[in-house]
Amino acid sequence: MKTNSGSGPQTKRRAVLPDDACPECGNPMREKKGRLTLPVNGEEIVVAGSPHLNCPKCDEVVLRFDDARKLRQRALEIYRQTYGLLSAEEIRSIRERFWLTQAELARLLRLGANTISRWEAGRNVQTASMDMLLRVIRDLPGSLDYLRTYAA
Ligand SMILES: [Zn+2]
Repeated sequence: MKTNSGSGPQTKRRAVLPDDACPECGNPMREKKGRLTLPVNGEEIVVAGSPHLNCPKCDEVVLRFDDARKLRQRALEIYRQTYGLLSAEEIRSIRERFWLTQAELARLLRLGANTISRWEAGRNVQTASMDMLLRVIRDLPGSLDYLRTYAA
């Protein structure tokens, strides 16, 4: 599977081939909808009905920028539903209830500095175990103080 985002190493080749040409064999590619998989937090998520370009000759799959964006959005939704995770808005509201910045919450959970902002923007999704920890912070008084005693 290739992501055809209009930039990067494929730019030179695209200038030579027509827009719908397969990057592998040069055959015209066809519009298709079908099952594609995308890893979310290390797990392969199957997304049915994903629009993409397919080569009828060599079966190469190419995602246009918008295809890739939709696939990722859908895969995150499926992952969130599968594990019954808190929504992006719920994470923000838990954080704000305790007057924490995104960076402070990240530090308490020993996450990378930008992780919380990615969750709250819906660009990424928390693992099921991190989701549980967020619920503990929300529901168990004193848990935040406990985390603070271990914070770096
Ligand atoms: Zn091909």
